[in-house]
Amino acid sequence: MIRFGPSGNSQIFYEEGNKSSLQAPSWLKSKGLTAYEYSFGRGYNMTRDTAQKLGEEAEKNDVLISVHAPFYINFANPLEEMAEKSFNYVLTGLNYLNWFKGEHLVVHLATQGKMQRTEALNLTKRRLISTLENLKSLNINLNNKYICPETMGKFSQIGSAEEIIEFCSLDNMLIPTFDFGHLNCLTAGKFKEKDSYKRIFDLSFEKLGEFKTKNCHIHFSKIEYSSKGEIRHLDFDDDYYGPNFEPLAQVILDYKLEPTIICESANFMAEDALKMLNIYENLKKH
Ligand SMILES: [Zn+2]
Ligand SMILES: [Zn+2]
Repeated sequence: MIRFGPSGNSQIFYEEGNKSSLQAPSWLKSKGLTAYEYSFGRGYNMTRDTAQKLGEEAEKNDVLISVHAPFYINFANPLEEMAEKSFNYVLTGLNYLNWFKGEHLVVHLATQGKMQRTEALNLTKRRLISTLENLKSLNINLNNKYICPETMGKFSQIGSAEEIIEFCSLDNMLIPTFDFGHLNCLTAGKFKEKDSYKRIFDLSFEKLGEFKTKNCHIHFSKIEYSSKGEIRHLDFDDDYYGPNFEPLAQVILDYKLEPTIICESANFMAEDALKMLNIYENLKKH
């Protein structure tokens, strides 16, 4: 089923008297939302006990939690011991996913650094393959767990739509995270009409097949950009930078997709996730 929800807690979540993320699943349910992304962008900082409690709340309220792995993962790091650390961040993320009873671990794969693009891509590919081999050799539950490499918003980062789709063809455990705010930054605002979205999903259907495309993970927010790409996340009051959600909602309906759609707006992520849900539901009626 298609799901909508925020990344993290909106300002309004706190304004309405909530204090802890443990309250998020029931609060989201009361608003009509069914997904929640927990970002460990700056590192893993939650006890196992709290994580398991959050997982119970999520299950009780039918909210599916995804995990965002730390931003400092970099599979193209020239140093092997740093790549080793990236493996551990993925492994820890999967542990949280188990405690949260979630399915999607979102990962920023790599930055290009001083390497040539192809060199960085090959190194990332090699490390990604060995990460998956190592994971499968461990005694951990990987059922319905997916690593979801994200399309990125800066040219210096590894993660164009084509690159992410290519990486995701390497293993069954890999499903793409299409961050359309990021993709809009890389194309200087192309994601204002259906064709740009269709192009991405057409390529995904062709290279990754039906399951991975229909069940992809989506990040959606309006993002300010320059010629180098992403600058900062905005909210749905922006009507200059984009992207626009209406054409994406139409393509989701046309292609019968059932993604999890996470809103990464600044401060208003739950409100904007609700706006997307309403746009989608209205289009569906027509
Ligand atoms: Zn991200
Ligand atoms: Zn994102």
